[in-house]
Amino acid sequence: MKVSASKINMYLRCGLQYYFRYEQGIKIPPPGIVITGSSAHKALEFNFTQKIESRIDKKVDEVLDCFSDTFELKRNEAEFKDDEKPAELKDKGISVLRKFQTENSPLIQPVKCENKSMIIFENDHELEMYIDMIDDKDNIWDHKLSSRKKTGNEDLLQLSLYSYAIKKSNQHIVKCCINNLVITKEPQVNILPVIINDDQRERSLMYVSSVINAIQKQVFLPAPPNSWICSEKWCGYWNLCRGGKKI
Ligand code: SF4
Repeated sequence: MKVSASKINMYLRCGLQYYFRYEQGIKIPPPGIVITGSSAHKALEFNFTQKIESRIDKKVDEVLDCFSDTFELKRNEAEFKDDEKPAELKDKGISVLRKFQTENSPLIQPVKCENKSMIIFENDHELEMYIDMIDDKDNIWDHKLSSRKKTGNEDLLQLSLYSYAIKKSNQHIVKCCINNLVITKEPQVNILPVIINDDQRERSLMYVSSVINAIQKQVFLPAPPNSWICSEKWCGYWNLCRGGKKI
């Protein structure tokens, strides 16, 4: 079986979501915040990939154009929530990227972008991951756009797996950095350093093994009813799963 960090995260958030998406193959349109995030990710990748060799950032307007073009391509795939206005999301994405490109990007020198890493588990199960970026100071970077500031805790599993994969391939790591682009009224760039220790790396493997075992046994537990994800706003499978009814 081949899994990714996002599949593992989805399973841990809600086994039924995983079941609908990956066992039944039911895709739901992403909300506007998700396509804003993936468009920002594309723009950062566009700049940092060429910067490995050139060591010079693209002009800010070129990076913003990449974001805007990607957003326009993706907007028809999205299902914007009632409180999401496409033009407003796009403007906020542009503002926060402009801030990042002007203030933060000049201080970062990438050496690898979209670095493919693999962890092989018992019975040849594979976890495949693409690490957003590694810089010349041996930091692992993960780009995350969000509507409120992240604490880092929500991404610990993913970062621990990245960190394990890099260590396993005998590369040195100093820390992980979450590049959190926050699209509040005033754009914020929240760079969160996260140190991962050996215990966390080992424990992350245990989570992945347990999830793979559970999937193989076809165990798909619903999220607890008080979980934030288990709501009409945040779960695209709400009607299918609950028929719109609360427990
Ligand atoms: S409604 Fe709740 S239990 Fe059902 S798929 Fe969504 S998050 Fe899971």
